Amino acid sequence: MKYLFLIGLILIILWIFRHPKNRRSRSGEIPATRRPERMVKCARCGVHLPEGESVQDGATHYCCIEHRNAAQDRTD
Ligand SMILES: [Zn+2]
Repeated sequence: MKYLFLIGLILIILWIFRHPKNRRSRSGEIPATRRPERMVKCARCGVHLPEGESVQDGATHYCCIEHRNAAQDRTD
C-alpha cells in the first residue's frame, strides 16, 4: 500500500514537470495576435500613418488634431 502511494506521487510529480515543458515549446512560436495595423491617409496633408495613431473624425482620418481642426474650419 505504501508503494502504491509512492508510485502515485512520482507519477504526479512527473506529470507536473512534463506539462510546463510542452507549453514552453509551443509558446516559442510567434504569436499570431499581433496583426499589422491598417495605414490611413491624412485628409489634409496626405501623410500616411497607422490607424491607431491617427485622429479620426467619422470616416475621415487626420495625422494630428491641428489638421482635423483646420479641415473643420474650412467646411464650417
Ligand atoms: Zn496632416
